[in-house]
Amino acid sequence: MKKELLRALPSVDELARMGALKDAAQRYSAALVTDTSRTILEEARAGILNRAISEVSKESLAGLVLKRLQELHNSSFVKIINASGTILHTNIGRAVLSKEAVEAINLSAEGNVNLEFDLETGERGQRDSHVEGLLKRLTNCEAAAVVNNNAASVLITLNTLAEGKEVIISRGELIEIGGSFRLPEIIKKSGCILKEVGATNRTHPEDYVKAITPDTALILKAHTSNYKVIGFTSEVGLEELAAIGKAHGVPVVEDLGSGSLIDLSLYGLPKEPVVGERVASGADLVTFSGDKLLGGPQAGIITGKKEFIERIRKNPLKRALRADKLTLSALEATLRLYLNNEKLKDVLPSLRYMTRPLADIEEKAVMASVLLENALGPDFNIEVLDGESVVGGGALPEYGLPTKVVSITSGKKSPDDIFKLFLNNRPAILGRIHKDRFMLDLRTIEDAALVVPSTLTGR
Ligand SMILES: *Cc1c(COP(=O)(O)O)cnc(C)c1O
Repeated sequence: MKKELLRALPSVDELARMGALKDAAQRYSAALVTDTSRTILEEARAGILNRAISEVSKESLAGLVLKRLQELHNSSFVKIINASGTILHTNIGRAVLSKEAVEAINLSAEGNVNLEFDLETGERGQRDSHVEGLLKRLTNCEAAAVVNNNAASVLITLNTLAEGKEVIISRGELIEIGGSFRLPEIIKKSGCILKEVGATNRTHPEDYVKAITPDTALILKAHTSNYKVIGFTSEVGLEELAAIGKAHGVPVVEDLGSGSLIDLSLYGLPKEPVVGERVASGADLVTFSGDKLLGGPQAGIITGKKEFIERIRKNPLKRALRADKLTLSALEATLRLYLNNEKLKDVLPSLRYMTRPLADIEEKAVMASVLLENALGPDFNIEVLDGESVVGGGALPEYGLPTKVVSITSGKKSPDDIFKLFLNNRPAILGRIHKDRFMLDLRTIEDAALVVPSTLTGR
């Protein structure tokens, strides 16, 4: 049986030259068709040998080749309408960029720019210079550097300041952020020796002081972005830590994670650490992300004392971790928006979503519910309910922003089925399942029609 099936398989050339693949050879190149035919035949052979395939025909094999060619040709990136209720959702690319940042990316992408080029002297420039002036103004730091993401900020900072030496950190701050960023592992990978002090819930100034030896190169403080220790707790504040560092000649670095450039409490939200305030508290360096609360592109930003930033720039790792022209131009455009605080919440999407008035969200939810009722028909039950959105990106982990959601239930489909129905639309519509219901959160949606699957409306 197996032998017969194997014998029935065409040769690569025979398959590639079949009439059904003739158009494909013109569209995709003959070489790609031959290559894909070889792959499909190898898979068929393996399938026959492990008895997964019990019949073959040249036509079905040609069909598989065509399908594979189409898959290769389609972009693997799919647009997602984010109705999940998480404003900064890491798995779907965190911050939605401002119009200004998108324009800046286009300008850089379609041609050449003065990325590392001084137009006045005609000589080589410094790529961080495009954002350093803005960061100085916005955080009162002496200097700033940019790398690929905040994990890279931490890595290069530790490696530059403390390679081969000890880094002191409180046991209560040995955090793991989603996606395998674990501080103890980053400390090790940066070539430093981890020296934990204190207990999970309580660390005191003496714990740090006692741990300092001639081998100590750095005191690290990490913002416990996505969790909180509550109850019988005590941590050493940054001011006090900075004083300890200064007294012993040991630099103090704070990994803020999200870090905000503005005080969110001015917008009626709980306060998250403000970069400028942390710099003012005496940290030698503060690191934070570009695409969390800042609302820009993925980037890692290091701000603080000039002598340390200069050493970081000279580290060969800076070359390996540097941000590209697209990132830097988007970051610069985002930072420029912060020059006008009054307008910020209208122009920076992440802040606009965080501060959106409930009445506005409700209006969109009601509009969406009417459109969805028409599109989905009588098998579905649609209601507008109260809900909670979250900021995401490790910011305000415990805080739910009151929102309005459209709940969609059905006697015929499970919440998971409905979730997938929306996800299979193009663009994909990402809702969430909460309390055994499928929900669409309208907080991050400007146009209610976007959450109605076009497969249902025939658009
Ligand atoms: C998010 C976060 C990081 C990692 O930042 P990325 O920009 O995602 O690389 C590091 N430290 C803390 C405290 C964080 O919250």
